[in-house]
Amino acid sequence: MDSTNPLSLQIKENIETIQEQIAAAAKRGGRDAGDVKLITVSKKKSVEVLRAAVQAGITLFGENYPEETVGKMDILKQEYPDLTWHMIGHLQSRKARLVAERFDMMHSLDSVRLAGKLGIALVECGRYLPVLLEMNVSGEESKGGWAAWDEKHWELLVPEIEQVLAVNALIVKGLMAMPPLSADAEKTRPYFCRLRKLQEWLGKRFSQTEWGELSMGTSMDFEVAIEEGATFVRIGTAILGARAY
Ligand SMILES: *Cc1c(COP(=O)(O)O)cnc(C)c1O
Repeated sequence: MDSTNPLSLQIKENIETIQEQIAAAAKRGGRDAGDVKLITVSKKKSVEVLRAAVQAGITLFGENYPEETVGKMDILKQEYPDLTWHMIGHLQSRKARLVAERFDMMHSLDSVRLAGKLGIALVECGRYLPVLLEMNVSGEESKGGWAAWDEKHWELLVPEIEQVLAVNALIVKGLMAMPPLSADAEKTRPYFCRLRKLQEWLGKRFSQTEWGELSMGTSMDFEVAIEEGATFVRIGTAILGARAY
């Protein structure tokens, strides 16, 4: 495969369109587009598709399933040693080791138990891991993350967050959310807004910690997320095409 591979050209075109949309959304939000990092979500995509993506200029991938990802990493690292991999999906504690050893960042840290498991594995392999705390800002039961939909109860989060912050090998960088998807992105705006408010609240409550990163927004709603302060947008379908399950 080379840079004239049709898939690679298609991906390149998709990225260019998205970069323009990111720039416009940042402008509307009074923000610098350079503060918005684009993660290409490659779960369920083959190594061939990822290779085409790299040829189109992508170096940062978001993945949901550790075993699947490690398989892709092992194949691609020969050709491309400098790729960056972020874990964005719910992680079972028993798979913490794979993430501790192989990933560059974890967006979906959602329990004290998982923080502890990651901490132990990180010490054993001599690494630090930047993490984001996943917050459930919508109240949907199926969603992961700490219960954060009711602003009156944010104080209840404090003891658990203290325990996460006490894990030395984890470097907390901010928050992540995956609100319910809606065809109308405006419906998601209040959730993004809530995550940013929570970020400000935690910034006051835990002023020693950097809370600067906000990971929010997918193919469906990244523009609104950027208007509301996203620093990471996680986009799969709009870059790599629909996933086959
Ligand atoms: C799959 C996934 C995305 C990307 O979704 P698209 O609709 O394909 O852009 C973003 N974030 C998380 C947590 C995901 O699991």
